Amino acid sequence: MSDTLLNAWNRCRTALADAAGTRHVRLVAVSKTRTAACIRSLAALGQRDFGENYVQEALPKIAACADHDLTWHFIGPLQSNKCRDVATHFAWAQSVDRDKVIDALARHRPPNRPPLNVLIQVNIDDETSKSGCTPDAVPALADRVASHASLRLRGLMAIPAPHPDPHRRRGAFAAMRTLYDKLQARHADVDTLSMGMSDDWVEAIAEGATMVRIGTALFGPRVPHP
Ligand SMILES: *Cc1c(COP(=O)(O)O)cnc(C)c1O
Repeated sequence: MSDTLLNAWNRCRTALADAAGTRHVRLVAVSKTRTAACIRSLAALGQRDFGENYVQEALPKIAACADHDLTWHFIGPLQSNKCRDVATHFAWAQSVDRDKVIDALARHRPPNRPPLNVLIQVNIDDETSKSGCTPDAVPALADRVASHASLRLRGLMAIPAPHPDPHRRRGAFAAMRTLYDKLQARHADVDTLSMGMSDDWVEAIAEGATMVRIGTALFGPRVPHP
């Protein structure tokens, strides 16, 4: 067990608790590119929520950690042909942005499992990104998720474009908060606003995030895939 990971986890949790005040903000440890051994070390400390971006990379790691009671979040781009694996092996799908994906996840969620937790990903300010729906599309997508018994609508997710100016970053988070409040008015049991990563989680929490997704600040810089 590396001291570095322990220190990073403690630092991260303390900072999150300080920033969140009396609210509880859920920490998802983003473990893409990290080994199963690394995930197991963090799980042994008590971290429960882990996020992965690629199905092929995630499945062997999920299997290798099956003796820990972990909650897996799919946070990467979601294609229809990946929906079976996501619905089977994950507890949350955070990157849901179109009808076809909603219906495929609903169809493939095993009947013996609790409903799959779904967040609708919103493309709040990044015109170059192909992931995420437009803000206008949220109500219809949310109604569609809610119409499936095998899915549970939990809220919204966003990855705002990185911007060096903290005011601009806060603007995107504030826009998400407005959308989230509107969604809650329509679906009272919605309880999750997932936004904030290693570089911007302080602003995200200040604007009402209930869940942050943190990789680099926990595990150190990612080594790019060769
Ligand atoms: C990689 C990733 C993160 C974590 O990013 P860091 O900057 O390493 O904290 C969070 N959310 C999504 C969707 C990601 O792909």
